Amino acid sequence: RAKSLGKNQYYVYNEEMGIQAIRRMELEKDLHKAFEQNEFFIVYQPKWNVATNSPIGFEALMRWQHPRLGIVSPAEFIPIAEETGLIIPMTRWILEKTCLQCVQWKKRGICQPVSINVSIRLFKSDTLNEMVYNILSKVGLEPDFLELEITEAMVLHDVNDIIRQLQSIRALGVRVSLDDFGSGYSSLGLLDRIPIDALKLDRLFTHDLHTPSKRAIINAVLRMAESLQLDVIAEGVENYEHIEYLRELGCHRMQGNYYGKPMMEDEVEGWLQLMESKGHAF
Ligand code: C2E
Ligand code: MG
Ligand code: MG
Ligand code: MG
Repeated sequence: RAKSLGKNQYYVYNEEMGIQAIRRMELEKDLHKAFEQNEFFIVYQPKWNVATNSPIGFEALMRWQHPRLGIVSPAEFIPIAEETGLIIPMTRWILEKTCLQCVQWKKRGICQPVSINVSIRLFKSDTLNEMVYNILSKVGLEPDFLELEITEAMVLHDVNDIIRQLQSIRALGVRVSLDDFGSGYSSLGLLDRIPIDALKLDRLFTHDLHTPSKRAIINAVLRMAESLQLDVIAEGVENYEHIEYLRELGCHRMQGNYYGKPMMEDEVEGWLQLMESKGHAF
């Protein structure tokens, strides 16, 4: 059987294809419309420094409110956006919205930097530097309030080209961090070649810290990061045990549901006040 996808597109489906494949095709078809129909929104997750007991910024994460399927995770739609090229306008959108948000927060006395995630596709397209420069100028945000999170896997693609692009991004004064560090091909040798400011330890590490051998690995990573003058932030911090292990290892920057889940823009101020009123008792 064939089912119409509109515009002369058809797919043949059978039992083996499974629900997953059909859902994916549906999402791909709908992603094109999602943008003009305003179905995307942004949530912000706080980052916390336990040494100073203070917030150190917010990561902007994209969400898709699908009209029938409900909230779709970026883990599902970002790969589709990368394949279809939609990732470029989508990144421009989240970058501009997030920078604008940061400017508004600053006007209200919330002086926190923001980070966004950037896909490999943007490095291939060579438009990233221009996009970042234009948006910062347009919204009037100081570059040191912006950080770009790139993933480890993407660094493996075309290292020299990426190094060149990262250099020009950092020359603008924008920070760069390596996301999900340790989740894939942990190429330690790359760390002294790619120009970055920080490492984000993948949450798998945070969740494995009760294992002595994993602690030994993280310890080595932290000492190496220290000598390379890189900041390190642990992802996926969910409970007090995680915090204690990380502290013992000398990792004081943390992000995770324990401190704050990704939240809507209008929840941020309340969250900051709550943390303040708790006397930062974390
Ligand atoms: P990421 O950049 O590593 O973001 C962290 C992910 O971990 C987020 O998932 C966040 O909700 C989740 N998380 C935070 N704290 C905890 C915790 O304590 N425990 C657990 N188990 N998970 C936690 P999310 O929002 O679903 O995003 C998934 C990935 O999608 C992101 O991983 C990022 O790689 C990608 N992504 C999200 N937004 C964008 C975007 O605007 N552009 C691009 N290119 N990628 C994006
Ligand atoms: Mg990230
Ligand atoms: Mg990550
Ligand atoms: Mg990730």
